[in-house]
Amino acid sequence: MNRIFNFNAGPSTLPLSVLEKVRDEFVDYQGKGMSIVEMSHRSAEYDEVHHKAMNLIRELYGLDDNYKVLFIGGGATMQFSMIPMNFLPAGASCDFTVTGTWSKKAFADASKVGKVNVVFDGKDDDYLNLPDPKSLKLDPSAAYLHITSNETIGGIQWQSFPDTGSVPIVCDMSSDFMSRKVPMEKFGLIYAGAQKNAGPAGVAIVIIRNDMLERCPENMTAYLNYKTHAAKDSLYNTPPVFPIYMVSLVMQWVKDNGGLEGISKLADERSSIVYDAIEANSDFYRCPVPEHCRSKMNVVFRLPSEDLEKKFIEEASEQKMGGLKGHRSVGGCRASIYNAMPIEGVKTLAEFMGEFAKKNG
Ligand SMILES: *Cc1c(COP(=O)(O)O)cnc(C)c1O
Repeated sequence: MNRIFNFNAGPSTLPLSVLEKVRDEFVDYQGKGMSIVEMSHRSAEYDEVHHKAMNLIRELYGLDDNYKVLFIGGGATMQFSMIPMNFLPAGASCDFTVTGTWSKKAFADASKVGKVNVVFDGKDDDYLNLPDPKSLKLDPSAAYLHITSNETIGGIQWQSFPDTGSVPIVCDMSSDFMSRKVPMEKFGLIYAGAQKNAGPAGVAIVIIRNDMLERCPENMTAYLNYKTHAAKDSLYNTPPVFPIYMVSLVMQWVKDNGGLEGISKLADERSSIVYDAIEANSDFYRCPVPEHCRSKMNVVFRLPSEDLEKKFIEEASEQKMGGLKGHRSVGGCRASIYNAMPIEGVKTLAEFMGEFAKKNG
C-alpha cells in the first residue's frame, strides 16, 4: 500500500479502516448481490444506513428532540442560499461575522436575499484574527447571527461563542464539525459540508432546532425549504446515498475513538505537535495567527521566503506528506489535520519541519 499522510484541506483524509470497509462491501453489500449505491433509497438496507448516520450524529452531539439532523445535497455552499431564503424575510435583518473566505461567501449570498448587519469584519487584520465574542455589538432583534466556527483557509477558529440571548446562532461548521463539544443550546442551525471531517463530498449535514423549522416560509419551492427535508427525514427525494453511507461509517469511527471527548483530545494533541514545531523553530517558521484563535484543524504557517515554501512543499511530498500548500488566495503553507489524521502523521511532519529548518535556516 502506498498511502501518504494527506494534509489536504478538503476533500481530505478519511480513516483508513473506513475506506477499507467501503472497499470490502462495495460490490456486494451485506450479501444482497448489489452495491449500496445500486439499491433503492427506499430499501430496508439503505434506510438502516441513513438512520444510523443520523442517529450517530444525534448521539455524538447529545442532541435532544428539539433538534433534527438533515442531509441535504449541494454542499455547504447551498446552505449559504437556503439559510437567508428561509430565515431572512423582508423587514428582518441578520447579524454577520465576516472572518475569512467562507464567511465572505456566506455574507455575499445572504446580502442578495435580505438585510445583513456586519458585527465584525476581520479585513484590517487580513482575516487572521477573531474578536472577543463578548465585544460584539449584537442586535437583539436580529433574525440570527451567522458565524463560521473555523475558517479553513485563514486557519482561525472560534474558541467560544457569543451569548446572543434569544437570537439563534447559525453556524458554518464545515471544517470543524464533530471535532469538539459545542454549546448546542446557542445554535439554531449548524451546517457542514461532509468532505472535511465527516465523509466524502456530496452532502451537507444540517442540525436544525424545531423553532427554526417553524420559521420556514410556506411559499417556497420544496427542496429549498428545510421543512420539506425535516418532514421526510431527508428522504423527500433521492438523497446522496453514497456520501451518507460513508458518513455513517465515519461517525461510527468517531464513536469508537471515544466520541467527542476522545476526538477533541486527539485534536488538541495533533495541533500542539504542529504549533510546537513552529515555535521550536521560530527563527524559521512563523504562524501569522495569534495564539487565542489558532485553528486545531488547519494550521497555517510561513517560511522565510516563497522559494523556501516551494522547496518545503516539494521535499515534504517526496517524504510522503501531501497537501501542504496554502490556499492559492493566501499562499504559504497549511497543514489540515482533521479527525482522521493519525498522530503519527503530525509527528512525521514535525520531525521533517525541524530537519528542514536546520538544513535551510
Ligand atoms: C469547504 C468549506 C465550505 C464549502 O463547502 P462545499 O461543500 O464545497 O460547498 C464552506 N464553508 C467552510 C468553512 C468550508 O471549509
